[in-house]
Amino acid sequence: MDCKPYIRAHQDELLASLAALIRIPSIEGTPEPGAPYGREPRRCLAETLALCERLGLKTTVMDDRIGWCEYGEGEQMVAVLCHLDVVPAGEDWKLAEPFSGEIKDGRIYGRGAMDDKGPAVAAIYALAALKEKGFVPSHRIRLLFGTNEETGFHDILWYKEHGGEIPVMGFAPDIEYPIINGEKGVMNCTFSRKLHQTGAFRLLRFEGGSAFNISPAYAVAELACPPEAASMIHAPKVTVTPIEGGIRVEAEGIASHASVPELGENAVGRLAMALAQLPLEGELADCIAFLSERIGMETRGESFGIAMRDELSGDLTFNLGVAAFAEEALSLTLSVRYPVSKTYDEAYPKLLRGFSLGGFTETAMQHLAAIYFPPESELVQKLSRVYEAQTGQKAVLRATGGSTYAKSIPNTLAFGPLFPGDISHIHQQDEYMEIEQLLRNAEMFAAALYELAR
Ligand SMILES: [Zn+2]
Repeated sequence: MDCKPYIRAHQDELLASLAALIRIPSIEGTPEPGAPYGREPRRCLAETLALCERLGLKTTVMDDRIGWCEYGEGEQMVAVLCHLDVVPAGEDWKLAEPFSGEIKDGRIYGRGAMDDKGPAVAAIYALAALKEKGFVPSHRIRLLFGTNEETGFHDILWYKEHGGEIPVMGFAPDIEYPIINGEKGVMNCTFSRKLHQTGAFRLLRFEGGSAFNISPAYAVAELACPPEAASMIHAPKVTVTPIEGGIRVEAEGIASHASVPELGENAVGRLAMALAQLPLEGELADCIAFLSERIGMETRGESFGIAMRDELSGDLTFNLGVAAFAEEALSLTLSVRYPVSKTYDEAYPKLLRGFSLGGFTETAMQHLAAIYFPPESELVQKLSRVYEAQTGQKAVLRATGGSTYAKSIPNTLAFGPLFPGDISHIHQQDEYMEIEQLLRNAEMFAAALYELAR
């Protein structure tokens, strides 16, 4: 079934629809009645479903958290899992305004263009094309639109826990092509420790990082201490400044996604290692020693005894994402991702024990188990055929430390939207999607939905 002519003929409409969604700054906001993740994600969901209705697709909203459109009849259902919420714009946009949806130079710009509003709109037009061609699927086709992917998957977990129908097959266009047949298990957790400070050095401030899934590029501490402390720290990428009654210590790092922390440098770990050069005493000394010796700049959890790897997906990764010190308590938020053939039980107890020995208690924990589809599985086989027919290239399988909705919905894996060689601006400044890339995604989705649902 050739959906290309329909998709190409509706290019302008598709782009205008996407631009309208990009103009909604659907970052998680304050919960309100009827908008559990804030007003803007809810508004974006309403706009998206209105678009589906205009294209003749029936829609449903579940508890203002997640919605979907559906086409066709049948006992069973196949799904595309997309999300409409976005991460904050951040600084330094140079080529366009982040919530403009501006179309120029063969691209559409804006936060969400690629992650994940572009793929969502491509999926909608793919389904509209199939409908227009009179496709009669044997399974219903459902496009799911979540609104809380970036900040914890609470939407899709709600769906699963409240009777949301599980597809027999499906995909999440939220990483890249060809096919992501495995995702590492993810443990996002926070540990805290109260400090009873005695000695001549007192910690006043300690902070770094803004998200569990990014390695901190900057961290800062302030201590009340004797003025001579300023000359006691010597470390590269660390700056010490005298302040009234003490010192300020700042460390630089390199931000990187938690799935590849080895590409970054952890500013919090570096800061702790610098502070460990001071003659600290009591609980503060213990706590800083723990931070510098058990975590430091490590990215594989070596000092917790959880370094492990497999052939399919590589190393366990360890990312300390956020450190905060408030009301005399230090809290650390991390994201640990274990290989696809390993289990939670092989990693978590040792991590917990390590933090307990350091005087920390767990205050938050979310686990998403690893997923893996062997090459011979039906879903991998079907998507491989589609990919190879559409691109003329081999559908290479790859497992990753990235995380998509596929982790929380059985029988689904990540497929698209980046083609090999495409540059990703996901979560960065100047996010955009090439118009051609958007249309090729719509064509790929139409072909994939046809294959999965026929
Ligand atoms: Zn995404």
